[in-house]
Amino acid sequence: MIPTITLMPSDALLIIDIQNDFLTGGALSISGSHEILPTLLGYVRRFQTHGLPIFLSRDWHPPDHCSFLSQGGPWPTHCVAGSPGSLPPSSFTTPTAVIIYKAKDRDEEAYSAFHHTELDRHLQALNVRRLFIGGLATDYCVLNSVKDARTLGYDVCLLMDGIKAVNLQPESGLRAEAEMIHLGALPVQWEMLGT
Ligand code: ZN
Repeated sequence: MIPTITLMPSDALLIIDIQNDFLTGGALSISGSHEILPTLLGYVRRFQTHGLPIFLSRDWHPPDHCSFLSQGGPWPTHCVAGSPGSLPPSSFTTPTAVIIYKAKDRDEEAYSAFHHTELDRHLQALNVRRLFIGGLATDYCVLNSVKDARTLGYDVCLLMDGIKAVNLQPESGLRAEAEMIHLGALPVQWEMLGT
């Protein structure tokens, strides 16, 4: 029998970097990333129904960000602040969400939604204790956001059906999942959420 998780007033949803450049056809397209969109929208609707807070992070780089190949970094130019690639697809409607912009400093590589953002302050103000986290990519921004969430003392439910990995190394997504679970993240899937 699948265990059931009951949503509580101290819960919030955090969806990492659903942006066109990470989706099919984007500058840094992640294989299979489109497949998780309907599931993530399901979580969004569920949290909306319960009146629970929803946060979306966005990679929001200056055009000469240090992570870009042109600057000696590892990635093709992606998610330049305000560009079409930096926006979510129009079908990904999240009217009540708070947007968290991250990795805005030219000279600093940053993967976590907590790094130099207001996210922790927002969560504390709302008395959030448990975060349901999904999005892109499992082995970078999801991993680092979950690590920071655990360090900051949040309980974490990792949305296993709402993440996809870059997998520069073939197993890195699986390794990241194992690391997050080792850090205390609870692996969760849609069927476990009660009504
Ligand atoms: Zn980036």
